[in-house]
Amino acid sequence: MLAVAARRLGVEMRFFSPDPQAPAGTRAELIVAEYENEAALAHFSEGLDFATYEFESIPITAVESIAQRATVRPPVRALETAQDRAKEKACFEALGIPTARSAPADSLREARAALAMVGLPAVLKTRRLGYDGKGQAVIRQSADLERAWVTVAGAPSLIEAFVTFTRELSLIAVRSSAGDVAFYPLVENHHSEGILRFSLAPAPNVSPQLQSQAEDYGEKVLDHLDYVGVLAIEFFETANGLVANEMAPRVHNSGHWTIEGADTSQFENHLRAVTGMPLGSTDAHGVSGMVNVIGQEPDVARLGELPGVHVHMYGKQPAPRRKLGHITVTAESMQGVLQAIGQVRGVLARK
Ligand code: AMP
Repeated sequence: MLAVAARRLGVEMRFFSPDPQAPAGTRAELIVAEYENEAALAHFSEGLDFATYEFESIPITAVESIAQRATVRPPVRALETAQDRAKEKACFEALGIPTARSAPADSLREARAALAMVGLPAVLKTRRLGYDGKGQAVIRQSADLERAWVTVAGAPSLIEAFVTFTRELSLIAVRSSAGDVAFYPLVENHHSEGILRFSLAPAPNVSPQLQSQAEDYGEKVLDHLDYVGVLAIEFFETANGLVANEMAPRVHNSGHWTIEGADTSQFENHLRAVTGMPLGSTDAHGVSGMVNVIGQEPDVARLGELPGVHVHMYGKQPAPRRKLGHITVTAESMQGVLQAIGQVRGVLARK
């Protein structure tokens, strides 16, 4: 999707991935090598003006190596912060952004002490490489801790208080190299089994105060990290306001709707920021919904019969829990979007 946006902007792209089937390879030059392959990294970065990333589990050493030859945006520090939940939490806390109480759990002994401090119920989360609900376990009673510790395979972790939330919202923010910031309207996200299933954009029932609270938190993070590019922050909405869960220093699944649903897509705005262009308008037009295609190929012909439905398949091999594509629905009203999402999910469930 970045490659598609790049074409429109006249930006030439080159991609690097250990996966020979990386979808970007169908749109632009793709260098396939391991992140530890110094020669391949040097070859990749030769002649590049800028480098960016759209996946945060890249070894920092690879990104630092590229940074010696090209301007990396968002900055390496942002990636380092987002890769480690402990650093991410410390960043939110330092900026006065509410986040669930937590304590480090690098060993089972430390985990017991952390649980005593944080209280029940709690969530054990690995500090690194956790996504789509991987590397985490809910602890409802003290006896659950040992089983949870096995789930995370003893990896350095933290224990976090379980947050009672009314819903999950995310903010897609962008900062240009000149320091200008822009925000898309908050998005409402629905997960199951730790995976984002569908999003509603703009999120319904968001007061101007709630939107500006989220933007205030977003701007604090962007400025603190001297950020350039798109940043996503995931929040829990609670009776006491927004609680930050995590951030992603990249274009984000909950911003995919912007391709059809906003003046400028998150992909275009990311590239605009990274390459030093002014940002485009982040205004939404109409109301959108985004449904992820997970695990198996959908009946694209049937989906195509539905009005206001836009299918994006990534050309990935199907596998359980893998995101293979997404579908955007656009409508005049949220009621229309919810109806269309129901129809789309009906088609996805049939095959
Ligand atoms: P994460 O990988 O942190 O985004 O977590 C995946 C999902 O687990 C979130 O989107 C929530 O639905 C749920 N979750 C994570 N942390 C908490 C928490 N502290 N309290 C309640 N639910 C949580």
